[in-house]
Amino acid sequence: MSEAIKTDVLIIGAGPCGLFAVFELGLLDMKVHLVDILDKIGGQCAELYPEKPIYDVPGIPYVTGQGLTEALMAQIKPFHPNFHLNEMVETIEKIGDPGFRVTTDGGQVFECKVDSALDWTLNLHPIAKRVTLLHRRDDFRAAPHSVEQMRALVASGKMELKIGQVTGLEGDAGVLTGATVKGNDNAVSKVACDTLLPFFGLTMKLGPVANWGIALENNLIPVETAAFETSVPGIFAIGDINTYPGKLKLILCGFHEGALMAQKAHRYVYPDKRLVFQYTTSSSSLQKKLGVN
Ligand SMILES: Cc1cc2nc3c(=O)[nH]c(=O)nc-3n(C[C@H](O)[C@H](O)[C@H](O)COP(=O)(O)OP(=O)(O)OC[C@H]3O[C@@H](n4cnc5c(N)ncnc54)[C@H](O)[C@@H]3O)c2cc1C
Repeated sequence: MSEAIKTDVLIIGAGPCGLFAVFELGLLDMKVHLVDILDKIGGQCAELYPEKPIYDVPGIPYVTGQGLTEALMAQIKPFHPNFHLNEMVETIEKIGDPGFRVTTDGGQVFECKVDSALDWTLNLHPIAKRVTLLHRRDDFRAAPHSVEQMRALVASGKMELKIGQVTGLEGDAGVLTGATVKGNDNAVSKVACDTLLPFFGLTMKLGPVANWGIALENNLIPVETAAFETSVPGIFAIGDINTYPGKLKLILCGFHEGALMAQKAHRYVYPDKRLVFQYTTSSSSLQKKLGVN
């Protein structure tokens, strides 16, 4: 058996979705290996219809299956993905929380372990002279192991944990010297520091949407993920405004949501018409609508 290849992420399947995932992961500094049972990159596009046209890739009016594969390869080139072709993933074993050992039929082993956001604190601790972690609550959603490590450092006096919020900053001649912190017990204290790393979310104002009679959750509209429909049948919410388990505020997710929403909306607009799922590659009626046939 080969020595295990350690990677941030292992993508099983070098089809178009796997290839684009390399790009998104690469943007967030994650290293990737891809495994595919085929002897070529591109999944169905390269294997089944390399010369056929695709008309519905966002932002690309026309591209062949092979052309899309090549475009994706050009797009992910900066991230230097590692491909393992002619290999089929056979087993996946849990080795961490989260962490996996993946083995292919050729005996190649991959190990991927994912660290949590709390690791910012843990990674800075050996480098910085002193680290203070300020958190609104004494409760963390990071991986339990990371939380334990942080608590051990706090217990041994190697770093400080404060529960509260920053209410003011102090400085001299434009240089930060400290922060004022108000604890959850309302006690005010000063924390001397020369670097402040804020990790906070945005507060969004909802405006008139709040008055439309749609159920809301933390200023967002909860939807189901079959059609992205709101609590009011016939009203859909796609894009940044909606929320559901696993939601990512990405335009491409909005494209996906729009596609599923349209299927359900069709039922409302044309209650008597049966909707047949079609590809732009092979459907002459869709091509006609697109003006390409
Ligand atoms: C004729 C035709 C025309 C089409 N036209 C369009 C179109 O116009 N527009 C459109 O949007 N879509 C179209 N599609 C669909 C589109 O090709 C697929 O939606 C797309 O390829 C899915 O990409 P993917 O990366 O998820 O998976 P795939 O392209 O299916 O790639 C998955 C890869 O995973 C690999 N794999 C699977 N299991 C393992 C394993 N255990 N170990 C290693 N590797 C594994 C497979 O070998 C494969 O290469 C068309 C499909 C066909 C067949």
